[in-house]
Amino acid sequence: MAEVRLAGIGKRFGARRVLEGIGLEIRSGELIGVLGPSGCGKSTLLRMIAGLERIGEGDLFIDGRRMNEVPPARRGIAMVFQSYALYPHMTARQNLAFALQAAGRPAAEVAAAVARVAGMLDLTCCLDRRPAALSGGQRQRVAIGRAILRAPRLFLFDEPFSNLDAGLRAAMRVELARLKQAMPASTMIHVTHDQTEAMTLADRIVVLAEGGIAQVGTPLDLYERPQTAFVARFIGSPAMNLLPGVVVATGARTRIRLDHGGAAVVAVATGDAALGLRVELGVRPEHLRPVGGPALFSGEVEVAETPGEATVLHFRRQGALSVAAKLPGLHPGLRGRALHLDADPQRLHLFHEGRALR
Ligand code: ADP
Ligand code: MG
Repeated sequence: MAEVRLAGIGKRFGARRVLEGIGLEIRSGELIGVLGPSGCGKSTLLRMIAGLERIGEGDLFIDGRRMNEVPPARRGIAMVFQSYALYPHMTARQNLAFALQAAGRPAAEVAAAVARVAGMLDLTCCLDRRPAALSGGQRQRVAIGRAILRAPRLFLFDEPFSNLDAGLRAAMRVELARLKQAMPASTMIHVTHDQTEAMTLADRIVVLAEGGIAQVGTPLDLYERPQTAFVARFIGSPAMNLLPGVVVATGARTRIRLDHGGAAVVAVATGDAALGLRVELGVRPEHLRPVGGPALFSGEVEVAETPGEATVLHFRRQGALSVAAKLPGLHPGLRGRALHLDADPQRLHLFHEGRALR
């Protein structure tokens, strides 16, 4: 239960600037996803909030109080890292109980609290095992349980599931969503480079790029209304296709002639000044559909992936242009076929010099 405010937060390591001018207000009870490519400063930001890294510039407020000089232990924060950092010689139970015992809580209270959290995280079965005898997912649940038992006002998660294989990662994602529902008042900041993780968990996502905030919004905002080509490509899988072209008619809808020969009408209003403007047309693979004749894109299917519920088609490159389409259902035998594709004008995006036209 904490409100967090970042005001002009920045950080350099020597001459190298990592973060600049980060401003953000996190509401009490919110689960904020911090998403960005590896090396963009996500951990540095989280470590500054936790007090493990000095705040270079700007101010951090938690519940209205400036925290820059407050030591980590007094910030009311619990942090869970990618590496679980459990005590190897202690059982899961002892690991969970440690902080409460160190704080001098009575044994009966500690036992009850450990039992409650173990039940919440499905750890009751393995409380008497040491970390070496636990699976990766169980270890990470112990680490999360330890954080819960500290009853922090703010949870920080730094890529907590990155060490787990894909199946466990998906399962832990659901666990974290459950945990959040069980503790609706707790504020959480969850750092990840995995857009699926951020998209499925977060109330709002902060996309970090090049040291600053590229966009803040709900998962649906970022998916439907990316403000930059970077955010557009970072959210969604496979990534949004970007096709270069030129504006040939303006108005309530904008007509684009594409460099590779196709054409598209986009439900974005433009004025006369946009005529002749160089743009990139953005279309998500899942919004492309086969049609009878030439439209937005025509190409030959080079690779067809059939993960199960959908078919992902990758078309033969045309110069630098590579296009993917995702069709619902199974469509065997498309490899080598020539297809024409189109999309609903409402689903198309326009970017000029990397910024969205609206
Ligand atoms: P992320 O968590 O997004 O992958 P980090 O916050 O760990 O990124 O790192 C951001 C950048 O800052 C990286 O280029 C990293 O090498 C650099 N960096 C992080 N910590 C230090 C440090 N203590 N000294 C120097 N450079 C650092
Ligand atoms: Mg990191």
